[in-house]
Amino acid sequence: MESEKALLHLSQAISIPTISNLDESITDWSQFEKFHAFLEKTYPLIHKNLTREKVHKASLLYLWKGKDSSLKPFAMLGHIDVVPVPEETKNEWKFPPFSGEHDEEYIYGRGANDMKNCVVALMEAVETLLEEGFQPERDVYLCFGHNEEVLCGEGSGAGAIAELLKSRGVQLEFVYDEGGAIMDDNLFGLKNPAAMVGLAEKGYADLKLSISNNGGHAAEPSDRTALGDLSRLICEIEKHQMPCRLIGTVKGTLKELGRNSEGILSIALKALSITKPLVMKILKTYRMTHAMMHTTIVPTICRAGTAVNVLPQKVEAMLNIRLLPGDTAEDVEKHIRKLAKRVGVLDELTLEFTTVSPAPSETSANSETYKIIEKTMKEVDPEIVTIPYLVTGATDSREYRGVADEIYRIYPFKITSDELDSMHGIDERLRISSFLSGIEYFVKFIKAQAERRV
Ligand SMILES: [Zn+2]
Repeated sequence: MESEKALLHLSQAISIPTISNLDESITDWSQFEKFHAFLEKTYPLIHKNLTREKVHKASLLYLWKGKDSSLKPFAMLGHIDVVPVPEETKNEWKFPPFSGEHDEEYIYGRGANDMKNCVVALMEAVETLLEEGFQPERDVYLCFGHNEEVLCGEGSGAGAIAELLKSRGVQLEFVYDEGGAIMDDNLFGLKNPAAMVGLAEKGYADLKLSISNNGGHAAEPSDRTALGDLSRLICEIEKHQMPCRLIGTVKGTLKELGRNSEGILSIALKALSITKPLVMKILKTYRMTHAMMHTTIVPTICRAGTAVNVLPQKVEAMLNIRLLPGDTAEDVEKHIRKLAKRVGVLDELTLEFTTVSPAPSETSANSETYKIIEKTMKEVDPEIVTIPYLVTGATDSREYRGVADEIYRIYPFKITSDELDSMHGIDERLRISSFLSGIEYFVKFIKAQAERRV
Protein backbone atom coordinates (compact mmCIF):
# COMPACT_ATOMS: atom_id res chain seq x y z
CA MET A 1 0.00 0.00 0.00
CA GLU A 2 1.34 3.37 -0.93
CA SER A 3 0.08 6.15 1.32
CA GLU A 4 -0.20 8.79 -1.40
CA LYS A 5 -2.16 6.50 -3.64
CA ALA A 6 -4.50 5.36 -0.86
CA LEU A 7 -5.24 8.98 0.03
CA LEU A 8 -5.92 9.80 -3.60
CA HIS A 9 -8.36 6.89 -3.77
CA LEU A 10 -10.26 8.13 -0.70
CA SER A 11 -10.37 11.58 -2.23
CA GLN A 12 -11.77 10.16 -5.50
CA ALA A 13 -14.35 8.12 -3.56
CA ILE A 14 -15.54 11.21 -1.67
CA SER A 15 -15.90 13.16 -4.90
CA ILE A 16 -18.66 10.81 -6.12
CA PRO A 17 -21.83 11.98 -4.32
CA THR A 18 -23.58 8.67 -3.65
CA ILE A 19 -26.47 10.22 -1.73
CA SER A 20 -29.25 7.85 -0.78
CA ASN A 21 -32.90 8.91 -0.50
CA LEU A 22 -35.88 7.30 1.12
CA ASP A 23 -37.77 8.25 -2.03
CA GLU A 24 -35.73 6.21 -4.50
CA SER A 25 -37.24 8.01 -7.48
CA ILE A 26 -35.09 11.06 -6.71
CA THR A 27 -31.87 9.09 -6.12
CA ASP A 28 -29.21 9.79 -8.74
CA TRP A 29 -28.38 6.18 -9.54
CA SER A 30 -25.73 7.22 -12.05
CA GLN A 31 -23.51 8.24 -9.11
CA PHE A 32 -23.74 4.74 -7.67
CA GLU A 33 -22.81 3.28 -11.07
CA LYS A 34 -19.91 5.70 -11.19
CA PHE A 35 -18.81 4.52 -7.75
CA HIS A 36 -18.98 0.87 -8.81
CA ALA A 37 -16.87 1.69 -11.88
CA PHE A 38 -14.40 3.60 -9.70
CA LEU A 39 -13.92 0.52 -7.48
CA GLU A 40 -13.47 -1.71 -10.53
CA LYS A 41 -10.85 0.55 -12.04
CA THR A 42 -9.01 1.29 -8.79
CA TYR A 43 -8.77 -2.25 -7.44
CA PRO A 44 -7.91 -4.52 -10.39
CA LEU A 45 -6.67 -7.49 -8.33
CA ILE A 46 -9.86 -7.59 -6.28
CA HIS A 47 -11.93 -7.61 -9.43
CA LYS A 48 -9.78 -10.36 -10.90
CA ASN A 49 -9.66 -12.63 -7.86
CA LEU A 50 -12.96 -12.06 -6.07
CA THR A 51 -16.46 -12.51 -7.43
CA ARG A 52 -18.65 -9.42 -7.33
CA GLU A 53 -22.41 -9.32 -7.42
CA LYS A 54 -24.68 -6.33 -7.57
CA VAL A 55 -27.48 -6.91 -5.05
CA HIS A 56 -30.81 -5.10 -4.81
CA LYS A 57 -30.48 -1.63 -6.44
CA ALA A 58 -26.81 -0.76 -5.93
CA SER A 59 -25.36 -2.80 -3.08
CA LEU A 60 -22.26 -4.93 -3.66
CA LEU A 61 -21.30 -8.39 -2.45
CA TYR A 62 -17.74 -9.60 -2.95
CA LEU A 63 -16.63 -13.15 -2.23
CA TRP A 64 -12.97 -14.01 -1.72
CA LYS A 65 -12.81 -17.80 -1.90
CA GLY A 66 -10.70 -19.47 0.78
CA LYS A 67 -8.73 -22.69 0.54
CA ASP A 68 -10.88 -24.60 3.01
CA SER A 69 -14.63 -24.38 2.51
CA SER A 70 -15.29 -26.32 5.73
CA LEU A 71 -14.23 -23.24 7.77
CA LYS A 72 -16.88 -20.66 8.62
CA PRO A 73 -16.60 -17.50 6.51
CA PHE A 74 -16.74 -13.97 7.89
CA ALA A 75 -17.94 -10.67 6.43
CA MET A 76 -16.58 -7.13 6.51
CA LEU A 77 -19.39 -4.59 6.12
CA GLY A 78 -19.61 -1.06 4.84
CA HIS A 79 -22.05 1.28 3.14
CA ILE A 80 -21.33 3.26 0.02
CA ASP A 81 -24.06 5.87 0.48
CA VAL A 82 -23.70 9.18 2.29
CA VAL A 83 -26.08 11.78 3.71
CA PRO A 84 -26.70 14.97 1.70
CA VAL A 85 -25.17 18.38 2.44
CA PRO A 86 -27.86 21.04 3.00
CA GLU A 87 -27.53 23.77 0.34
CA GLU A 88 -27.39 26.56 2.96
CA THR A 89 -24.36 25.02 4.72
CA LYS A 90 -22.21 24.38 1.63
CA ASN A 91 -20.39 27.71 1.96
CA GLU A 92 -19.46 27.03 5.56
CA TRP A 93 -17.16 24.15 4.62
CA LYS A 94 -13.41 24.68 4.53
CA PHE A 95 -13.36 22.84 1.18
CA PRO A 96 -16.36 21.99 -1.02
CA PRO A 97 -17.97 18.86 0.54
CA PHE A 98 -17.62 16.67 -2.53
CA SER A 99 -14.15 17.81 -3.61
CA GLY A 100 -12.24 15.28 -1.49
CA GLU A 101 -9.58 17.90 -0.78
CA HIS A 102 -7.13 17.68 2.06
CA ASP A 103 -4.62 19.79 3.92
CA GLU A 104 -1.54 18.50 5.72
CA GLU A 105 -3.55 16.99 8.56
CA TYR A 106 -7.09 16.15 7.44
CA ILE A 107 -9.03 14.87 4.46
CA TYR A 108 -12.38 16.66 4.19
CA GLY A 109 -15.71 15.81 2.62
CA ARG A 110 -19.02 14.04 3.01
CA GLY A 111 -18.21 10.40 3.70
CA ALA A 112 -14.67 11.09 4.98
CA ASN A 113 -15.89 9.70 8.30
CA ASP A 114 -19.12 7.91 7.46
CA MET A 115 -18.00 5.80 5.72
CA LYS A 116 -16.14 6.04 2.45
CA ASN A 117 -13.11 5.87 4.76
CA CYS A 118 -13.99 2.30 5.75
CA VAL A 119 -14.98 1.09 2.31
CA VAL A 120 -11.79 2.46 0.73
CA ALA A 121 -9.60 1.22 3.62
CA LEU A 122 -11.08 -2.27 3.29
CA MET A 123 -10.51 -2.28 -0.48
CA GLU A 124 -6.94 -1.00 -0.04
CA ALA A 125 -6.29 -3.74 2.54
CA VAL A 126 -7.59 -6.58 0.38
CA GLU A 127 -5.79 -5.27 -2.73
CA THR A 128 -2.57 -5.10 -0.68
CA LEU A 129 -3.02 -8.68 0.55
CA LEU A 130 -3.60 -9.83 -3.03
CA GLU A 131 -0.46 -8.00 -4.17
CA GLU A 132 1.43 -9.98 -1.53
CA GLY A 133 -0.01 -13.18 -2.97
CA PHE A 134 -2.07 -13.88 0.15
CA GLN A 135 -4.92 -16.36 -0.11
CA PRO A 136 -7.29 -16.81 2.83
CA GLU A 137 -7.96 -20.17 4.46
CA ARG A 138 -11.64 -19.35 4.89
CA ASP A 139 -14.07 -17.47 2.65
CA VAL A 140 -14.15 -13.72 3.18
CA TYR A 141 -17.11 -11.57 2.17
CA LEU A 142 -17.13 -7.82 1.61
CA CYS A 143 -20.68 -6.48 1.88
CA PHE A 144 -21.40 -2.88 0.93
CA GLY A 145 -24.95 -1.59 1.31
CA HIS A 146 -26.27 1.38 -0.66
CA ASN A 147 -28.93 2.90 1.61
CA GLU A 148 -27.82 2.56 5.23
CA GLU A 149 -28.35 6.27 5.86
CA VAL A 150 -32.06 6.13 5.06
CA LEU A 151 -33.26 2.60 5.74
CA CYS A 152 -32.97 -0.36 8.02
CA GLY A 153 -35.04 -3.49 7.67
CA GLU A 154 -37.20 -4.03 4.61
CA GLY A 155 -35.84 -2.50 1.43
CA SER A 156 -32.32 -2.04 2.78
CA GLY A 157 -29.34 -3.21 0.74
CA ALA A 158 -27.85 -4.84 3.84
CA GLY A 159 -31.09 -6.76 4.40
CA ALA A 160 -31.06 -7.93 0.77
CA ILE A 161 -27.44 -9.16 1.04
CA ALA A 162 -28.19 -10.98 4.31
CA GLU A 163 -31.26 -12.61 2.70
CA LEU A 164 -29.18 -13.71 -0.28
CA LEU A 165 -26.53 -15.27 1.99
CA LYS A 166 -29.25 -17.00 3.98
CA SER A 167 -30.86 -18.41 0.83
CA ARG A 168 -27.46 -19.89 -0.06
CA GLY A 169 -27.14 -21.52 3.33
CA VAL A 170 -24.19 -19.33 4.37
CA GLN A 171 -23.64 -19.05 8.12
CA LEU A 172 -20.98 -16.50 9.08
CA GLU A 173 -18.62 -16.71 12.02
CA PHE A 174 -19.09 -12.98 12.44
CA VAL A 175 -19.80 -9.68 10.71
CA TYR A 176 -17.65 -6.60 11.25
CA ASP A 177 -19.25 -3.19 10.85
CA GLU A 178 -19.08 0.47 11.89
CA GLY A 179 -20.21 1.51 15.39
CA GLY A 180 -17.39 2.43 17.79
CA ALA A 181 -14.11 4.17 16.97
CA ILE A 182 -10.69 4.67 18.54
CA MET A 183 -11.43 7.58 20.85
CA ASP A 184 -8.38 9.75 21.10
CA ASP A 185 -9.26 12.52 23.55
CA ASN A 186 -8.97 11.07 27.04
CA LEU A 187 -12.71 10.71 27.46
CA PHE A 188 -13.67 9.76 31.04
CA GLY A 189 -10.09 10.24 32.23
CA LEU A 190 -8.70 7.54 29.93
CA LYS A 191 -4.92 7.55 29.74
CA ASN A 192 -4.72 5.93 26.29
CA PRO A 193 -6.54 5.97 22.98
CA ALA A 194 -9.51 3.61 23.46
CA ALA A 195 -10.86 1.28 20.78
CA MET A 196 -14.56 1.14 21.62
CA VAL A 197 -15.71 -2.21 20.21
CA GLY A 198 -19.48 -2.40 19.80
CA LEU A 199 -20.37 -5.84 21.13
CA ALA A 200 -24.01 -4.92 21.53
CA GLU A 201 -26.47 -2.62 19.80
CA LYS A 202 -29.80 -1.28 20.89
CA GLY A 203 -33.03 -2.42 19.29
CA TYR A 204 -35.30 -0.02 17.45
CA ALA A 205 -39.08 0.55 17.53
CA ASP A 206 -41.59 3.21 16.51
CA LEU A 207 -44.84 3.45 18.42
CA LYS A 208 -47.98 5.37 17.50
CA LEU A 209 -50.07 6.64 20.42
CA SER A 210 -53.61 7.83 19.71
CA ILE A 211 -56.07 9.44 22.09
CA SER A 212 -59.68 9.76 21.00
CA ASN A 213 -62.62 11.59 22.57
CA ASN A 214 -65.77 13.36 21.44
CA GLY A 215 -64.18 16.61 20.35
CA GLY A 216 -66.68 19.41 20.14
CA HIS A 217 -66.84 23.16 19.65
CA ALA A 218 -63.94 25.26 20.95
CA ALA A 219 -66.46 27.77 22.39
CA GLU A 220 -67.86 25.22 24.87
CA PRO A 221 -65.00 22.88 25.74
CA SER A 222 -65.09 20.18 28.38
CA ASP A 223 -62.47 20.12 31.15
CA ARG A 224 -60.40 17.58 29.31
CA THR A 225 -59.34 17.62 25.69
CA ALA A 226 -57.67 14.90 23.64
CA LEU A 227 -54.68 17.16 23.12
CA GLY A 228 -54.36 17.79 26.85
CA ASP A 229 -54.67 14.06 27.62
CA LEU A 230 -51.95 13.17 25.15
CA SER A 231 -49.69 15.93 26.48
CA ARG A 232 -50.15 14.66 30.03
CA LEU A 233 -49.21 11.16 28.97
CA ILE A 234 -46.11 12.37 27.09
CA CYS A 235 -44.96 14.39 30.11
CA GLU A 236 -45.45 11.32 32.29
CA ILE A 237 -43.36 9.21 29.89
CA GLU A 238 -40.59 11.83 30.00
CA LYS A 239 -40.64 11.84 33.78
CA HIS A 240 -40.74 8.05 34.17
CA GLN A 241 -38.47 6.38 31.66
CA MET A 242 -37.90 2.63 31.59
CA PRO A 243 -35.76 1.46 34.54
CA CYS A 244 -31.96 1.49 34.34
CA ARG A 245 -29.80 -1.61 34.56
CA LEU A 246 -26.29 -2.66 33.55
CA ILE A 247 -26.17 -5.23 30.74
CA GLY A 248 -23.10 -7.47 30.35
CA THR A 249 -21.45 -5.32 27.66
CA VAL A 250 -21.81 -2.13 29.72
CA LYS A 251 -20.42 -3.88 32.79
CA GLY A 252 -17.44 -4.73 30.55
CA THR A 253 -17.17 -1.07 29.52
CA LEU A 254 -17.06 0.07 33.14
CA LYS A 255 -14.55 -2.60 34.14
CA GLU A 256 -12.13 -1.63 31.35
CA LEU A 257 -12.71 2.09 31.98
CA GLY A 258 -11.76 1.52 35.61
CA ARG A 259 -8.59 -0.32 34.63
CA ASN A 260 -7.48 2.25 32.10
CA SER A 261 -8.49 5.62 33.49
CA GLU A 262 -7.24 7.92 36.19
CA GLY A 263 -8.95 9.87 38.94
CA ILE A 264 -11.96 9.43 41.14
CA LEU A 265 -14.06 7.66 38.47
CA SER A 266 -11.37 5.00 38.12
CA ILE A 267 -11.36 4.36 41.86
CA ALA A 268 -15.16 4.10 41.91
CA LEU A 269 -15.23 1.74 38.91
CA LYS A 270 -12.63 -0.57 40.38
CA ALA A 271 -14.94 -1.14 43.35
CA LEU A 272 -18.11 -1.45 41.27
CA SER A 273 -19.67 -4.16 43.42
CA ILE A 274 -19.88 -1.59 46.24
CA THR A 275 -20.18 1.65 44.27
CA LYS A 276 -22.71 0.51 41.64
CA PRO A 277 -25.63 2.69 42.87
CA LEU A 278 -23.40 5.77 42.98
CA VAL A 279 -21.78 5.04 39.61
CA MET A 280 -25.19 4.55 37.97
CA LYS A 281 -26.34 7.85 39.46
CA ILE A 282 -23.34 9.63 37.94
CA LEU A 283 -23.75 7.90 34.56
CA LYS A 284 -27.41 8.97 34.47
CA THR A 285 -26.32 12.61 34.35
CA TYR A 286 -24.69 12.19 30.91
CA ARG A 287 -26.99 11.65 27.95
CA MET A 288 -24.63 9.17 26.29
CA THR A 289 -24.05 6.95 29.31
CA HIS A 290 -27.67 7.24 30.47
CA ALA A 291 -28.80 5.89 27.10
CA MET A 292 -26.55 2.86 27.64
CA MET A 293 -28.44 1.88 30.77
CA HIS A 294 -32.07 1.98 29.74
CA THR A 295 -34.58 1.77 26.92
CA THR A 296 -35.15 5.32 25.73
CA ILE A 297 -38.62 6.51 24.66
CA VAL A 298 -38.89 9.92 23.04
CA PRO A 299 -41.74 11.75 21.26
CA THR A 300 -40.75 12.89 17.76
CA ILE A 301 -43.96 13.63 15.84
CA CYS A 302 -47.34 15.01 16.94
CA ARG A 303 -50.46 15.28 14.82
CA ALA A 304 -53.59 17.01 16.05
CA GLY A 305 -56.31 19.39 14.97
CA THR A 306 -57.54 20.74 11.66
CA ALA A 307 -58.91 24.15 12.59
CA VAL A 308 -58.18 26.61 15.36
CA ASN A 309 -61.81 26.68 16.56
CA VAL A 310 -62.46 22.91 16.51
CA LEU A 311 -61.50 20.45 19.25
CA PRO A 312 -59.74 17.48 17.65
CA GLN A 313 -61.43 14.10 18.17
CA LYS A 314 -58.25 12.21 17.64
CA VAL A 315 -54.65 13.16 18.39
CA GLU A 316 -51.59 11.13 17.60
CA ALA A 317 -47.95 11.08 18.64
CA MET A 318 -45.08 9.01 17.33
CA LEU A 319 -42.56 7.77 19.84
CA ASN A 320 -39.07 6.65 18.83
CA ILE A 321 -37.80 3.85 21.03
CA ARG A 322 -34.31 2.39 21.41
CA LEU A 323 -34.51 -0.95 23.18
CA LEU A 324 -31.86 -2.04 25.62
CA PRO A 325 -30.84 -5.65 24.79
CA GLY A 326 -33.20 -7.81 26.81
CA ASP A 327 -36.12 -5.35 26.76
CA THR A 328 -38.98 -6.02 24.35
CA ALA A 329 -41.69 -3.97 22.66
CA GLU A 330 -44.17 -5.69 25.00
CA ASP A 331 -42.23 -4.38 28.01
CA VAL A 332 -42.51 -0.84 26.61
CA GLU A 333 -46.24 -1.24 25.97
CA LYS A 334 -46.80 -2.44 29.53
CA HIS A 335 -44.80 0.49 30.89
CA ILE A 336 -46.78 3.07 28.88
CA ARG A 337 -50.14 1.51 29.77
CA LYS A 338 -49.19 1.74 33.44
CA LEU A 339 -48.37 5.45 33.04
CA ALA A 340 -51.58 6.03 31.03
CA LYS A 341 -53.58 4.50 33.87
CA ARG A 342 -51.81 6.76 36.35
CA VAL A 343 -52.78 9.94 34.45
CA GLY A 344 -56.30 8.60 33.74
CA VAL A 345 -56.15 8.25 29.94
CA LEU A 346 -55.94 4.47 29.58
CA ASP A 347 -59.50 4.04 28.24
CA GLU A 348 -58.98 6.65 25.51
CA LEU A 349 -55.58 5.32 24.46
CA THR A 350 -54.64 3.13 21.47
CA LEU A 351 -51.08 1.88 20.94
CA GLU A 352 -49.70 0.61 17.67
CA PHE A 353 -46.10 -0.36 16.92
CA THR A 354 -45.28 0.62 13.33
CA THR A 355 -41.70 -0.76 13.45
CA VAL A 356 -40.06 -3.24 15.78
CA SER A 357 -36.50 -4.43 15.37
CA PRO A 358 -35.31 -6.17 18.53
CA ALA A 359 -31.75 -5.72 19.76
CA PRO A 360 -29.32 -8.32 18.39
CA SER A 361 -27.87 -10.56 21.10
CA GLU A 362 -24.67 -9.41 22.79
CA THR A 363 -21.33 -10.73 21.57
CA SER A 364 -18.89 -11.98 24.20
CA ALA A 365 -15.64 -10.18 24.95
CA ASN A 366 -14.08 -13.63 25.56
CA SER A 367 -14.38 -14.59 21.89
CA GLU A 368 -11.42 -15.43 19.67
CA THR A 369 -12.26 -12.54 17.33
CA TYR A 370 -12.37 -9.99 20.16
CA LYS A 371 -8.88 -11.15 21.17
CA ILE A 372 -7.68 -10.69 17.59
CA ILE A 373 -9.19 -7.18 17.46
CA GLU A 374 -7.37 -6.35 20.70
CA LYS A 375 -4.06 -7.81 19.50
CA THR A 376 -4.25 -6.14 16.09
CA MET A 377 -5.04 -2.74 17.61
CA LYS A 378 -1.91 -3.09 19.74
CA GLU A 379 0.19 -4.13 16.75
CA VAL A 380 -0.80 -0.94 14.96
CA ASP A 381 -0.31 1.20 18.08
CA PRO A 382 0.83 -0.36 21.40
CA GLU A 383 -0.87 2.53 23.25
CA ILE A 384 -4.39 1.51 22.26
CA VAL A 385 -6.62 -0.17 24.85
CA THR A 386 -9.72 -2.08 23.82
CA ILE A 387 -13.05 -1.52 25.56
CA PRO A 388 -16.41 -3.29 24.98
CA TYR A 389 -19.22 -0.91 24.14
CA LEU A 390 -22.96 -0.71 23.52
CA VAL A 391 -23.83 1.08 20.27
CA THR A 392 -26.92 3.20 20.88
CA GLY A 393 -27.66 3.92 17.19
CA ALA A 394 -28.62 1.39 14.54
CA THR A 395 -26.10 -0.13 12.11
CA ASP A 396 -26.47 -2.32 9.01
CA SER A 397 -25.02 -5.22 10.97
CA ARG A 398 -28.36 -5.89 12.66
CA GLU A 399 -29.66 -7.21 9.33
CA TYR A 400 -27.15 -10.07 9.59
CA ARG A 401 -28.49 -11.37 12.92
CA GLY A 402 -29.88 -14.48 11.28
CA VAL A 403 -26.72 -15.36 9.34
CA ALA A 404 -23.93 -14.42 11.76
CA ASP A 405 -22.99 -15.89 15.14
CA GLU A 406 -21.25 -12.74 16.35
CA ILE A 407 -21.27 -9.01 15.52
CA TYR A 408 -18.38 -6.55 16.04
CA ARG A 409 -18.84 -2.84 15.43
CA ILE A 410 -15.79 -0.62 15.31
CA TYR A 411 -14.01 1.30 12.63
CA PRO A 412 -10.26 1.36 13.15
CA PHE A 413 -9.66 5.09 12.93
CA LYS A 414 -8.42 7.34 15.71
CA ILE A 415 -10.79 10.21 16.25
CA THR A 416 -11.63 12.89 18.80
CA SER A 417 -15.15 13.77 19.93
CA ASP A 418 -14.99 16.96 17.83
CA GLU A 419 -14.04 15.07 14.71
CA LEU A 420 -16.79 12.55 15.44
CA ASP A 421 -19.32 15.38 15.66
CA SER A 422 -18.42 16.43 12.10
CA MET A 423 -20.06 13.22 10.88
CA HIS A 424 -23.24 14.20 8.96
CA GLY A 425 -22.27 17.85 9.71
CA ILE A 426 -20.10 20.67 8.39
CA ASP A 427 -16.40 19.95 7.70
CA GLU A 428 -16.73 16.19 8.01
CA ARG A 429 -13.11 15.15 8.18
CA LEU A 430 -10.68 12.40 9.06
CA ARG A 431 -7.06 12.65 10.12
CA ILE A 432 -4.88 11.37 7.30
CA SER A 433 -2.67 9.49 9.75
CA SER A 434 -5.81 7.77 11.16
CA PHE A 435 -6.88 6.71 7.69
CA LEU A 436 -3.48 5.19 6.91
CA SER A 437 -3.18 3.28 10.18
CA GLY A 438 -6.79 2.09 9.64
CA ILE A 439 -5.67 0.42 6.41
CA GLU A 440 -2.75 -1.19 8.23
CA TYR A 441 -5.19 -2.47 10.84
CA PHE A 442 -7.50 -4.00 8.22
CA VAL A 443 -4.56 -5.73 6.47
CA LYS A 444 -3.46 -7.33 9.74
CA PHE A 445 -6.97 -8.09 10.98
CA ILE A 446 -8.22 -9.70 7.77
CA LYS A 447 -5.03 -11.71 7.49
CA ALA A 448 -5.21 -12.96 11.08
CA GLN A 449 -8.89 -13.88 10.75
CA ALA A 450 -8.58 -15.44 7.33
CA GLU A 451 -5.68 -17.63 8.46
CA ARG A 452 -7.37 -18.74 11.66
CA ARG A 453 -8.11 -22.47 11.74
CA VAL A 454 -10.47 -22.41 14.71
ZN1 LIG B 1 -22.45 4.95 8.58
